[in-house]
Order: sequence, then structure tokens, then C-alpha cells
Amino acid sequence: MLVGKISAAAFGSRRAGLAALMRLVAAALLALAAAATAHAENVVGCQKPPAKHAVDTRWPINIGVLAPQLVAYRCSDYIKDVAAALAGAHDWIERRAPQVDKPAIVFDIDETSLSNWAEIYHNHFVFAASGPCNLAAAHRLCGDRAWELSARADALAPTRAFYRLAGTLRAKDGHRIAIFFVTGRVNDPALRDATARNLRKVGYGSWKKLILRPRSSRGAVSIYKSGERKKIERRYTIIANIGDQYSDLIGDSDGDHAERCFKLPNPFYFIPPGLPEAGLKCLAH
Ligand SMILES: [Mg+2]
Repeated sequence: MLVGKISAAAFGSRRAGLAALMRLVAAALLALAAAATAHAENVVGCQKPPAKHAVDTRWPINIGVLAPQLVAYRCSDYIKDVAAALAGAHDWIERRAPQVDKPAIVFDIDETSLSNWAEIYHNHFVFAASGPCNLAAAHRLCGDRAWELSARADALAPTRAFYRLAGTLRAKDGHRIAIFFVTGRVNDPALRDATARNLRKVGYGSWKKLILRPRSSRGAVSIYKSGERKKIERRYTIIANIGDQYSDLIGDSDGDHAERCFKLPNPFYFIPPGLPEAGLKCLAH
């Protein structure tokens, strides 16, 4: 049906027609991703998810009440909310990329491009930085580094669909959009290799650069990330920056270092700093 709606006039040439068709296929994939349910993804914890119910917010929420509600959310509305957060990004890059000579998009990795839900669920929302990770050992925490080295994270389907859409677009100069991953994962050879392997395994094809945080980097993750975007900006225009934490999006006194940014939901963990009181200009769209 989608193809039937393409008018002949839209095909100025065979190449333009193919590009239009690829964009429609990508848009259809994005819509399918939005419609995907957690059950269809076979997500751990979602075979018999906790029932959703209203949480009493008159007092600080009891963590024993909150945790099952987060599982219920992961199993119901989470993927739809990720897709909704990216809907505006989809429209924006389609419009903006052809206007810019060297456009770039920056993606965070964890809970943006990859989902670590299997680790999060196994650990009951507790973060364990080190130690082994055996998901079959029910009463032992899964260490984050071991989990990342195992390269078993799933793709977040709406982000992957958006990534694929970006791959179909062309800049003003006819080149592809340059894709950068900027992650807080530690930059060592083993973790770099596992992260790249994991990304490719779940469908993130080619990228310009995978940037991991140097061991020597100190301070808030937002300082490291905005610094990396600043370096990217020397050669590219960052038309979109995608992340699940405000620390992925916060800039510095020179600006946010992205024309627009898109915040995905993540109620499962928090990396400071949060949204500044003054807000973020890149979110204003
Ligand atoms: Mg993240």
C-alpha cells in the first residue's frame, strides 16, 4: 500500500526513485518497530509481566512497589515510548540532511542503541560494575563489564530502524550522513571489540567512528561527551544527538553541540547530571 502511494512525479530519476523507495521502506520499518510488543521481542520478564497499577505518590514511592511497575512498563509501553521519542527525529533528519554538506548524527549506546534489559532485570535494577556475569545464576549479580564483554545486548528496535533510515538519506553534497557512537563505556581494546561486535550483530551496520571514554577521563560524563561532539563539529554539522540520559545531551558554554537532540525514556537507571534548570536548547523543537 505504501508503494502504491508514490506518485510517478516523485521519481525524477531511477536513483531518486530508489532513494524514495528506500525511505518508504525505512519509514515502514520504523512504524513496525513502534508497533512491536515486548512479548513479540521475547523479552525476559515479560512472559508473565506484573500487572500495571497506579502507584501512590503521596510519599516517596516504595521501591518494592516501584520495581515491578518498571518491569510492567518495560513489557508494555517502553518500546512504544522510545519510538515516539524518535518520531520527531525521523522527520527532522529527512528534512535537514539534504540541506547540509557534512551532516552527522551522534548516538549514545546503552539504552539508546542497545538494550541491557537482560542484565538490568537479572540484577533487579542493582548495578554491579565488576564480577562475572552468569544469567543462569539467579542469586548472583551480573557484573556490567563482563556483561558488556559478552556482546549479548539486544538492539532497541526503534533506534535501529531510525539508524537504518539515516543510512538511506543523502546530504546536500550527495554523501551519506556520518554516524558517530559516543559512549561512556571504557575505552580498552577488549571492550571496544565487544561493543563493535555487539552493534554489528544486532543490525547496526557501518559507522564513521565508535568513541569510547578514555580511562584517563575524569568528571561528569556530560563533559567528556560534549567534548567529543565539539571535536566532531570541527568537520561536521551534528544535526541530531540521540541519548537516554540528559548527560548524553548537555553541552557547555558554547552550546549543546548538536542542532537538535532527542531524549529517550529510561526509568531503569540514572547517570548524573540531570536536566539543567535552564533546560537545553537542543531539546526545543
Ligand atoms: Mg545510555
